[in-house]
Amino acid sequence: MLREEHERRQRAKDAVELIRQINSPSGQRMRNCRKRAHLTKKAALDELEKLKSHPSGKHSKLQRVYLCDRCYTWHLTTFNPKPWKWD
Ligand SMILES: [Zn+2]
Repeated sequence: MLREEHERRQRAKDAVELIRQINSPSGQRMRNCRKRAHLTKKAALDELEKLKSHPSGKHSKLQRVYLCDRCYTWHLTTFNPKPWKWD
């Protein structure tokens, strides 16, 4: 395997492991935030699109993504104005 390819795969694995840790119960305590964390705006937007197109429609109210001022990761929200005032 090419060295670059190996490193790319390793970084992808590391990112998956990191997101798993920060969304575990101990990760939520560490972040002092119980919302599901996304590391990048793009990851949050991808998740938003995926959930909104869920056949059950149960996530159809989700509207936007925002950077949390408590844990500094990206979250999805149904609220439009000043989401940081809501929990
Ligand atoms: Zn947060």
